Amino acid sequence: MELPKDLHVQGIASFQPPTRRLMGPGPSDIHPRVLEALSRPTVGHLDPTFIAMMDEVKSLVQYAYQTTNALSMVVSAPGSAGMETCFVNLVEPGDKVIVCRNGVFGGRMLENVTRCGGTPIVLDFEWGHPVDPNRVEEALKEHPDAAILAFVHAETSTGVRSDAQTLCGLAKQYGCLSIVDAVTSLGGIPVLVDDWGIDAIYSGSQKCLSATPGLSPVTFSKRAVRKIKKRESPVQSWFLDLNLVMQYWGSGGSKRSYHHTAPVHALYCIHEALLMLQEEGLDSSWERHRAQHERLRAGLEDLGFRFLVDEEYRLPQLNAVFLPEGTEEVGLRQKLLREYNLEVGGGLGDLAGKIWRIGLMGHTAHSDKVDFLLDVLRKEL
Ligand SMILES: *Cc1c(COP(=O)(O)O)cnc(C)c1O
Repeated sequence: MELPKDLHVQGIASFQPPTRRLMGPGPSDIHPRVLEALSRPTVGHLDPTFIAMMDEVKSLVQYAYQTTNALSMVVSAPGSAGMETCFVNLVEPGDKVIVCRNGVFGGRMLENVTRCGGTPIVLDFEWGHPVDPNRVEEALKEHPDAAILAFVHAETSTGVRSDAQTLCGLAKQYGCLSIVDAVTSLGGIPVLVDDWGIDAIYSGSQKCLSATPGLSPVTFSKRAVRKIKKRESPVQSWFLDLNLVMQYWGSGGSKRSYHHTAPVHALYCIHEALLMLQEEGLDSSWERHRAQHERLRAGLEDLGFRFLVDEEYRLPQLNAVFLPEGTEEVGLRQKLLREYNLEVGGGLGDLAGKIWRIGLMGHTAHSDKVDFLLDVLRKEL
């Protein structure tokens, strides 16, 4: 009998990635203490020690979001799945959803609404500008039957911060639930779920939390949970159906039962990363991101870079900048990666080839990294 087919496996060795400095739109650099958590022993996903750790993750997620929401947990999949969890659970067929689009990720929200059978009301804003609350209020007045308002807090494609507090206040005033994308904001700038009255919000593990990519912390208000429990049609996604997931995360007051095998080590990792955030303190983390952004801004402006976004709306953790006149964007970006192990992001959509997106997210937001990047740019420009 012939051996199984070899196909193309000859010469493959263990993968040894280079050590990069990750200064793009995510993933960000991971602290050694967090990486170390990945190599701890495996336990079963229903092991009592693991369940106790999950309870701590829940508390740490509540801390990060500043909320007492009982339904706070981590979706076993990346930020995009956190987005999808919010939409598939909250949008019922026929629901009118006001979607604000001022960059790439607002466009994905729209895609979600349509696929859930919702009726989208799309509000477009110029890329590089925040969502305008006045236009949102007009839309809310014009569509009194709207059920949900959805927007991106920190648009990673442009580096813009929208005013989540005002927008969620409007949603509440006009009887809508709010869905907020906080993938890039959580940990980097204030995200105050209870104070701002946010109903559903998702983030990502690999941006300002600096954990391994592939997880999405989410939290839902009581009003949101009520809508989910009252649904007439079942959630079309079995995996993301919170009525089922709640039973595994122990958020329904019920005993835990098997839903899917949790990504055990990835959860150790986000536990450690969230613990580090709690030890540092949210306000210190926000201040660190702000201070490093200022340091970077001063250096970049000296070199002739210009910011895309007005100062008031800039995200400290995502710096969208036009390069100095006459600089070859792609060539320089590739050179930084090749010769300096330094990753910065390019532009998306209409901004491709025109801007860089320099991330100062989580563990990347430290002065040694900012200074390294500025030194390299001084040499190469
Ligand atoms: C990165 C990002 C996402 C998607 O997260 P993934 O983990 O890549 O799936 C969604 N929204 C925003 C604003 C992001 O920056």
